[in-house]
Amino acid sequence: MRYQRSSALFAEAKKYIPGGVNSPVRAFKAVGGEPIFIKKAKGAYLYDEDDNRYIDYIASWGPLLFGHAFEPVIKTVVEKAKKGTSFGIPTEIETQLAKLAVDMVPNIDKIRFVNSGTEACMSAVRLARGYTGKDKIIKFTGCYHGHSDAFLIQAGSGAVTFGSPNSPGVTQGTAKDTLLADYNDLEGVRALVEANKDEIAGIILEPVAGNMGCIVPTKEFIHGLRELCTQEGMLLLFDEVMTGFRLGKGGAQEALAIDADIVMFGKVIGGGLPVGAFAAKTEIMAHLAPDGPVYQAGTLSGNPLAMGAGFAMLSEIDQNPEVFQSLAKKTEYLHKGIAEVLTQKGIAHQINRFGSMISVHFCEDPVVDFASSSKGNNDTFKKYFHGMLDQGVYLPPSAFESYFLNDALSYSDLDSTIEAIKNCDL
Ligand SMILES: *Cc1c(COP(=O)(O)O)cnc(C)c1O
Repeated sequence: MRYQRSSALFAEAKKYIPGGVNSPVRAFKAVGGEPIFIKKAKGAYLYDEDDNRYIDYIASWGPLLFGHAFEPVIKTVVEKAKKGTSFGIPTEIETQLAKLAVDMVPNIDKIRFVNSGTEACMSAVRLARGYTGKDKIIKFTGCYHGHSDAFLIQAGSGAVTFGSPNSPGVTQGTAKDTLLADYNDLEGVRALVEANKDEIAGIILEPVAGNMGCIVPTKEFIHGLRELCTQEGMLLLFDEVMTGFRLGKGGAQEALAIDADIVMFGKVIGGGLPVGAFAAKTEIMAHLAPDGPVYQAGTLSGNPLAMGAGFAMLSEIDQNPEVFQSLAKKTEYLHKGIAEVLTQKGIAHQINRFGSMISVHFCEDPVVDFASSSKGNNDTFKKYFHGMLDQGVYLPPSAFESYFLNDALSYSDLDSTIEAIKNCDL
């Protein structure tokens, strides 16, 4: 049996961990079946507990731009660990990573490190509220900003003005301050702003969305949001947890030529260790404790292992910026290959792509927002996912997730992947 040991480990895990996993998508609920358990990974490949090898398209959901067990990161982490893992007292490496990030990313002067993307987004919104003195925020249906209360809101029927909680435990009190709009719908945002004049602290979005498949903003939409924020005294918050240091040195701000007011990071900035961060111009960051009154803190924030891993990762990117062209070319190659096979098979599909993010949707119409993304045929997706898994290709186990390519992927890996789709019974 191909997945025998994974299956036994999952059964054991479920006894002690809710659903057997520490993050829900891992449990394969969206695709059926049982998750595989990973023993080790190197470069573009994962190896499971049954010694099956997989070509990996999630890269730990984004961080591993150069592939698994990347030597410069591993070396730094080992060196740092020998000298102590955390002190709760300042270290030089924090400033080194901060300076490097500020040098690489446009339009930011200062950066605060936290331990996850969730924390980064949660803290950034608090800062936006503290800075503007306003309570409400606008978010887009289908955008994910971590699991803190203010963001676990989705449009229920008729809930255009006031969000309704879509996770038990999120209070109506919290939900009422989160206003919902549709991605790529500037008019919808204008209407919300009009209806909530001078009450909105800011607009938060994934500047290239990756949590409802990969969705690229239209020029009109993204420039419109910038203008609207400037006109109305609202802050524009770019959640670059996914796009930061993946779409280019300067992330989506650079790729789309838009300046945001607060930028949030995670994933790549930690090189595979738990790191998040939020950054802005000094004028805004001055409101953060201990310089200002907006409180935010963390026992393990800026610990030397995490900072070392992030510094090694960002240094490699800084010195090898051609990695972004290389990744984009590989992603384009994969796109063409997948499209060709699916077209030959007569399967309706849409493929969205930006840089090294790509998603395949089994539907007829263009995917531009959450509603169009939701129209994908999930039965086809399930067959596709498991067909690929059985042939040693690990894709995101949800139709709403983007693939993240890593530069350890070779063209021969991409060819094997495309070949495997031919064998899928879709
Ligand atoms: C992953 C992600 C987050 C949450 O980051 P965690 O480290 O999982 O808390 C927030 N925003 C976006 C856009 C993400 O992709």
